[in-house]
Amino acid sequence: MENLSNGHLESFVKIPTIKFTKLFINGEFLDSVSGKTFETVDPRTEEVIAEIAEANKEDVDIAVKAAREAFDCGPWPRMPGAERAKIMLKWSELIEQNAEEIAALDTIDGGKLFSWCKAVDVPEASNILRYYAGAADKIHGDVFKTSRDLHLYSLMEPVGVVGHIIPWNFPTVMFFAKVAPALAAGCTMVIKPAEQTPLSSLFYAHLARLAGIPDGVLNVVPGFGSIAGAAISSHMDIDAVSFTGSTETGRKIMQAAALSNLKPVSLELGGKSPVLIFDDADVDKAVDLALFGILHNKGEICVAFSRVYVQEGIYDEFEKKVVEKAKTWVVGDPFDPKVQQGPQTSKAQYDKIISYIEHGKSEGATLLTGGKPAGNKGYYIEPTIFVNVKEDMLIAQEEIFGPVMTLSKFKTIEDAIKKANNSKYGLAAGIVTKNLDIANTVSRSIRAGIIWINCFFAFDIDCPFGGYKMSGFGRDYGLEALHKFLKVKSVATPIYDSPWL
Ligand code: NAD
Repeated sequence: MENLSNGHLESFVKIPTIKFTKLFINGEFLDSVSGKTFETVDPRTEEVIAEIAEANKEDVDIAVKAAREAFDCGPWPRMPGAERAKIMLKWSELIEQNAEEIAALDTIDGGKLFSWCKAVDVPEASNILRYYAGAADKIHGDVFKTSRDLHLYSLMEPVGVVGHIIPWNFPTVMFFAKVAPALAAGCTMVIKPAEQTPLSSLFYAHLARLAGIPDGVLNVVPGFGSIAGAAISSHMDIDAVSFTGSTETGRKIMQAAALSNLKPVSLELGGKSPVLIFDDADVDKAVDLALFGILHNKGEICVAFSRVYVQEGIYDEFEKKVVEKAKTWVVGDPFDPKVQQGPQTSKAQYDKIISYIEHGKSEGATLLTGGKPAGNKGYYIEPTIFVNVKEDMLIAQEEIFGPVMTLSKFKTIEDAIKKANNSKYGLAAGIVTKNLDIANTVSRSIRAGIIWINCFFAFDIDCPFGGYKMSGFGRDYGLEALHKFLKVKSVATPIYDSPWL
């Protein structure tokens, strides 16, 4: 670990030396076949952190071959579940022991708050491994009662070699949400982290090796989506793909799967989630919830409360207070414990958000606060609130994935439900009310994968997570995720001498 060069932050944290920059294939860190590398950039400083080996189709082929060999001939799929669990538990311990270093990697790579990564994301990674380690020895089929003299039963088998493609906003949690259930199922795999945030994935590969994950079971291939990602989704020897990312890319992945070997895909995609704040809400608490809902992780959250609808009785008070509070929101270096919002992950994401803000202004929405870059260096953007937003405006329909809230009024429950459902997405929604009838009616009427009543971002690993509509299908978390990586085989045999032979 080296000291941070930026003087005043030295007291907060030590920036790690980057130790792992190569592809991880068959238990070894390797250069790419082409020798090509790409830069990963610190969004706080806009400076290059490291050159990372860039996987192309040839590298993905080598990684898939290693995973296939490990699946067909290696110990992992054949091991008793309890043995797989022991190795996964060892990995989870190593993650805990290295929490500070891993959290710092996600902070310099993705601009995420260091304190959040250390206190939430990294412990969550360990917990996901523990949860699925606990499931690894409880995988079994059924015995079926038949009207004939048959012993008829099913086996649950690992689906085979799986491909995972993950985004940059939660590099740690996404890695384990994909890898852990697949490992528990007995699969072998190739994972492509996002090109913006490869550092923690490579560190996890190093810890996996130390934990005793056999060679070839886990292969990590950093690279670009259109090259390495496309090579995974179109690969003839990958048996299933699990993807988290944008709806646009999800469509390409499904197409590639259909045009190659018809592999099943699961898609966790984008969102444009509403929060409905009713007249009986405590306005101060609702303001805090709405701001956390859009500004947490600088708005780079698929479930962000980007559309805020407030009932007319409390609207004026809410609008005044939310703007006042947004102006006090602390934007700055994500290592500083006082900071609430770090830089956007990449220049491309920063440019995209700024261009949506400009579009909102030109469409006629009114900017109440924010709308500008924050600071001279780094990809920082001020918390931004628009009002006078028409439902068909781009900023009300498209996923901005940044600290930009649209704020509107509603009159009745029916009006609120209609507005909430007026989106091609259906990932999450929020309801703020003390009235149980409203909460029950609205939660059953919104078409979204998770409904938060008087809270935001409340999860449990045991609870399945995923989308409705164009937010995708298939679920991460819970035993549903384990089943994405299992296949059912039915077996029949006569019980007595039979007429069958
Ligand atoms: P993205 O779709 O551009 O990239 C996601 C991943 O897909 C990256 O690893 C990328 O390299 C890869 N990729 C890009 N093009 C590809 C292609 N043609 N073939 C195969 N792989 C390809 O998304 P992003 O901008 O990195 O992430 C932000 C998006 O992810 C947002 O839309 C957000 O809502 C979504 N997201 C969803 C969830 C969820 O659980 N539903 C969670 C986090 C992020």
